[in-house]
Formats: sequence, structure tokens, C-alpha cells
Amino acid sequence: MKLISNRSKVVMALSLLILVGLLFFAYKYVKNASWWVQYPTNKHYYNNGQLVSSGKIYDRSGNILYETSGGRVYFNENKSVRTGVMHATGDLHGNVVTGAQVAFKDLLTGWNLLNGAFTLNEDSRGHDLTLTIDAYLSAEAYELLNGRKGTVGVYNYKTGEIIAMASSPSFDPQNSVNIAENPETYEGVYINRLLSATYTPGSVFKLVTAAAAIDNINDIESRVFHCDGEYDINGDIVTCPLVHGDVNFDDALAESCNGAFAEMSLELGGDLLQKYAEIAGFNSSLKVDGIETAKGVVNAKDAIGADLAWAGIGQYTDMTNPLNFMAYVGAIANDGVLVYPKIIKNNDLTSLIKKYTGSSQKRILSYDTAVNLQRMMRNNVIKVYGEKNYEGLELAAKSGTAEVGEGKTPHSLFVGFMDREDCPLAFVVVIENGGIGSRVAGPVAGKILRAAMKTMVK
Ligand SMILES: [Zn+2]
Repeated sequence: MKLISNRSKVVMALSLLILVGLLFFAYKYVKNASWWVQYPTNKHYYNNGQLVSSGKIYDRSGNILYETSGGRVYFNENKSVRTGVMHATGDLHGNVVTGAQVAFKDLLTGWNLLNGAFTLNEDSRGHDLTLTIDAYLSAEAYELLNGRKGTVGVYNYKTGEIIAMASSPSFDPQNSVNIAENPETYEGVYINRLLSATYTPGSVFKLVTAAAAIDNINDIESRVFHCDGEYDINGDIVTCPLVHGDVNFDDALAESCNGAFAEMSLELGGDLLQKYAEIAGFNSSLKVDGIETAKGVVNAKDAIGADLAWAGIGQYTDMTNPLNFMAYVGAIANDGVLVYPKIIKNNDLTSLIKKYTGSSQKRILSYDTAVNLQRMMRNNVIKVYGEKNYEGLELAAKSGTAEVGEGKTPHSLFVGFMDREDCPLAFVVVIENGGIGSRVAGPVAGKILRAAMKTMVK
């Protein structure tokens, strides 16, 4: 009996080993198969490290942005389009990891676990992919940056579709340029600044502090703040660019009075400011059809005194990701409901994409708070930025001039939305070291929105 018992133990142990082995193989297969087949030495898909057999990438109007033929890669025929949408499409060597040809490689090569790779012949290649962006609009946005580093984003706050996306510097992906020899010109060239950069927000952050104030300071609508150009917090001075005198809440935002917002921030306290920053998307990333944005940063929770005041003014250690902030502004425009930005337009691929996206919208502000902020942002344009500069756009906006260190020209920011049913667009413009937000980033926003409106309103 003892012998049999020992034998059966050995058999059992062996069976167990085989089972474990099988499970391990199955796990590795599922986990790595897609990677094996797409590894750049797989000649079916790659030639010299380039993806040479895949579906085409189109923009929303059907313009080809990327295609493979005869073992070669072709981008759009127009150089300014190629350059303007390079970050959306990707480059020849896959250096832009958020570019569609890298980020959506699975979809483009048509790889799936059940059927394996498509064999290479004329009519069997991967899926085609249609992006939500308008290629010509994105190219125009890139040109409006005019060689300056920064980004422009425009998205439909009701559908979530990103319709313009530009990041500068860029280059023509069809013709290689010597990036290593011009490190300053091409600084961070492989980074899509809309998705992957973070910037000091400066005064655009006052839209976050204002939301917290509307919800938590009872008499905020009737409050009068007094600004002497300096706000003294136990000897630490928060400076204001102008002496604003007496300002109410609306004027405080329109004039971007640091003194008023310092007072509000101290009254709210670190916990509440932190809470509203996180509601606005700080300290977390958004997923754009699976592409993760960079995380913004706010450390208001434990900040006190002048640090807390500056945190509420968009300085201190605050950092924002442009796309994330555009989504927050889009939520304000959409009566408090954030519709998550997306970049893939195809409907037939919805099931494949769904695993990435989950829910497509979320209420982040109450209806009343959002409508209040809409009214205040519209007031900013009418009272300060100049309605004549943005005529017909029904523009609501906030500017930011973000200090980025002693002796450096501040970053220029302008965010907002069009309050038009037929053209529900939110936007962000960041021009690195560009200067005053309303004067430098503002006109760029005006031009791109006017161009966008032409494509939407016939
Ligand atoms: Zn002031």
C-alpha cells in the first residue's frame, strides 16, 4: 500500500507540474503573443524597424495621414500637414510613443489572439483607423505657434472629439532632420505637449479656486475684496500686477486679481483647494482612447500662508497637463459634465476600443457652479479681453501668465470655450515663454476657433 501511495504521489506531483507548465505557457502566450508578432524583427510587419504593413490612418475628413505600401511608409502628401499632425500620427521610427501608429499598433496591424497575424497580400492587412482630428486645422494650429514651443488643443465638449491637436517643435516625418545637431530647436520634439507635458498653470488655475469659492464661501457673490497691489500674509507678500482697489468676485476673476484669490485661498484652506484641484483632474491622468496623459500636480493640502495663497493662484508647485485642463474647461462649458476627450473616430472598432475607455462622461461640478463659471468666463472676454477681438465666437475664457523663474519670460496660456450650440468647442493654448496670456496665446486661440467654426458651421 505504501508503495502505491508513494507512486500516486509522484504521478500527482508530475501532473501538477505539467499543469503549471501549461498554464504558464498559456499565460506567456496571451501576454506576449501580440508583442512577439509585432517585434521589429518580424519581417511580416517591419522593415528596418519601420512598421511597413498596416492599416491606413485617416483624419476626420478622410485625408490620409499614414499608409504603408510595398514595404514603405507614406505620410500625407502635404508637408505642412505632415509636420502639423506628426505628433498625432507618429514619425518613421516610432519615437512619438503617443502617436497613433505606435499607440494603436494592435488595431492597425489587425493582430488578434484567435486568428494570429494577417498574411501579407494585397487585400489582407490590418484595420484602417480614422482619427477625430482635422488635419488641416491641426496644421494651421501648428503654424499659428510660429516656431514657438507650446501646444494648441481644440475639442468638442459635447462629443469628446479632439478636432485640433498641435505640438511644437515638430518636423516633417517623411524627410529626416538632424535633431541631434539642433538640441535647442528640437527640445522635447518627440513629446506631444498636449498629452504628455505639464506646465505651471498661472492664473488659469483661478477657475479651480473660483469653483471652490462658489461652493464654499456663502457670501461670495456679494463679497468685496480690496487690492493694494500687495497682499501681506504675516510678512510674506503676494504681489498683484496692478492695484485693483475694490473688486467684487466677478471682477476679481476678470482682472485676475492675485490679492482677491490669495484671500479666497486662505479662507478655503488647503483641504478644500486640494479637493477642487483633484475634481479638476490634477494629480491624476486622463486616458484618451487608452493613451495616458501626463499628471498635473497640486500640493495645496499641507500648504499654509503664502504657499497656500500662491497654490490658489496657480503658482507654488502647481503643474497642469494642457489636455487635462482643457477637459476641465470643457466640463464647465457642458454644464458641469466632463465628456472624456477621444482621438479615434471609427465606430466599427468600438468594441475593441471599449476596453480602454469605460465610461465616456462624468459630472464633476454641479449645474449651478458650472453656469456661474460660464457667466464669469464670458464676462472676462466682454470686460477685459475685448469682445471685438473674438466677435461671433461667443467666447468665454481665462488667460494665464505663468511665472517660470527669475529672468525668464512667463508662459502664455489661454483656455476657454465657445458658448454656441452649433459649435461647442473648448480649447487650450500654451506658448512657452510667450509672455502675457491674453495678448499672446489669446489671439492664437481666436484664429484657430474661427477656422474651426468654418469647418463646423456651414
Ligand atoms: Zn489685485
